[in-house]
Amino acid sequence: MSTTETRKFEAEVAQVLHLVTHSLYSHKEIFLRELISNASDACDKLRFEAIAKPELLSGDAELHIDVSWDPEARTISVSDNGIGMSRDEVIANIGTIASSGTRRFLEAMSGDQQADARLIGQFGVGFYAAFVVADKVTVLTRRADAPTAEAVKWESDGKGEYLLEQIEREARGTTVVLHMKADEDEFLKNWQLRSLIRKYSEHVAFPIRLPKDDDGKPGDEVETINAASAMWTRAKSEISDEEYQDFYKGLGSDFNNPLAWAHNRVEGSQAFTTLLYIPAQAPFDLMGANRDERKGLKLYIKRVFIMDAAQELLPPYLRFVRGVVDADDLPLNVSREILQQNRQVDRIRASIVKRVLDLLEKMARDEPEKFATFYSAFGNVLKEGIVEDPSNRERIAKLLRFASTAGEGAKQNVSLDDYIGRMKAGQEDIWLITGETYAAAAGSPQLEALKAKGIEVLLLFDRIDEWMLGSLSEYEGKKLRNAAKGELPLDEADKKKQEEASEAAKPLLERIRTLLGDRVADVRVSARLVDSPSCLALADFDMAPHLARLLREAGHDMPESKPTLEINPQHALLKRLEGVSDEAQAADLAVLLLEQAEVAAGATLDDPAAFVQRMNRLLAG
Ligand code: ADP
Ligand code: MG
Repeated sequence: MSTTETRKFEAEVAQVLHLVTHSLYSHKEIFLRELISNASDACDKLRFEAIAKPELLSGDAELHIDVSWDPEARTISVSDNGIGMSRDEVIANIGTIASSGTRRFLEAMSGDQQADARLIGQFGVGFYAAFVVADKVTVLTRRADAPTAEAVKWESDGKGEYLLEQIEREARGTTVVLHMKADEDEFLKNWQLRSLIRKYSEHVAFPIRLPKDDDGKPGDEVETINAASAMWTRAKSEISDEEYQDFYKGLGSDFNNPLAWAHNRVEGSQAFTTLLYIPAQAPFDLMGANRDERKGLKLYIKRVFIMDAAQELLPPYLRFVRGVVDADDLPLNVSREILQQNRQVDRIRASIVKRVLDLLEKMARDEPEKFATFYSAFGNVLKEGIVEDPSNRERIAKLLRFASTAGEGAKQNVSLDDYIGRMKAGQEDIWLITGETYAAAAGSPQLEALKAKGIEVLLLFDRIDEWMLGSLSEYEGKKLRNAAKGELPLDEADKKKQEEASEAAKPLLERIRTLLGDRVADVRVSARLVDSPSCLALADFDMAPHLARLLREAGHDMPESKPTLEINPQHALLKRLEGVSDEAQAADLAVLLLEQAEVAAGATLDDPAAFVQRMNRLLAG
């Protein structure tokens, strides 16, 4: 078997390479952060494997990362004595993009360099950032458990092919050599590399070393550049805001400062530390299909990185949280299966949920603007908690924000507490309505009577709201009531008025019932309407018509439920209907009353063309 071969990159790799090198040009310095992050991961992996096989560390137990440069050869090298890679691993990890995230990455690239740069780390394509500054990259690597004769050299100019060769290598781990492009001299300098390491990699848990003098070659005297300690083990009082922020950025996947963080140590028989961050921006796939693919909370056990355990340590509705958990008393050889049914993990998880809710409550109270930023990024995710975490339902509900008839347009900034504080004397319930958009909700005819009485109504128009409301029927002892559902008369006086109006409209109701036939469940006089001629009234368990339509459009089988039509006998249209003797015209009018109520509720019209013809007949007539 030949030990040297040339292979083609998988098609998608070539595409990613092309995109990465072109879109990252204004952020090219991140290549170093990405390579150091890979080196650090490799050291973490070795330390983890060495728990079971201590001999892997033999002779070279101190894990570290070396950065060096050669101004004459115009190369920069990043070296680690971590786990290394076998030939197959090199092919799998660097020559192909195994992760299903690749396609999503390609689709997510926006052309906005700032945003695209953020995506790089998120998608596990960091290695390719090397080609932004280098026109050739050489990787020399030996897996910690492979003999020295079975090391691998990988080399590519990033243009479609790479070379693989079996080589000898004494040192365990990986060296990545970047042959810098002609105009990238700025990176071949001690101060430049030093400042990039400080900027991006200060909190990498392994020492990052750099030669002291100016010619950069390895073998010279080196010094450690970064703090190389687990920052979360230090006392809060000794850590500056800037250090917290840098540490967050070092976690990867976000260049921006976090909105807030909480750093806590729980002492006792089962001690653990949590450092939790709330990002300022949602990653692009937060609401997507991958609700269960949670990432970003790293589990350490006594300072040893074990795995990303967001799935085990965060409920789905807090999946935006990033950070570190370090537990003192879990077994180092813990597996995902064990994590899923471990008492202590349950405790840690509960503590994380509590800390995050504390943090959000504090933010909502003390820094409402920050909280608004949080809410616009993650409010819809938080709502899932209303359904999924009954034990914290009241706390989560307190954090929800809505648009309202008493609010500022579509701005979602009214809390349930605000609402309760403004309730009218004698008002018992919290009123709300859902719609497909803000305008649809705000313009619902069902609100007219409430508005006329000066009763505030919350306006909900996110898709998740209907689902959430199924689990939120009460807050602080007050019922949440949908203005489009059930019977509306609010008090005895109203009830009496409505009964009288129904009595007076009896013949009219009967006529409309006959004209509409089995298209409606019933026709009745509305207590909701003031200005509009008609609206739909839903039963308590009916789904909102706009949602039923969306689900139907998405291919779900939705039962057809017949609406109840409510009319406003005071309206000119109904007066007109009373006076029409031509049956065909009366039928047009009656059906139009139903159809306009359906349109206002965002329901599907059975026959839009017929609706248009009907309307035109009446307009012309
Ligand atoms: P990510 O780090 O997000 O997985 P990268 O593109 O940065 O994505 O790296 C791809 C893969 O290549 C890594 O997951 C790892 O398996 C492998 N790799 C890269 N650098 C090293 C290294 N220094 N030592 C060992 N493996 C590495
Ligand atoms: Mg990486």
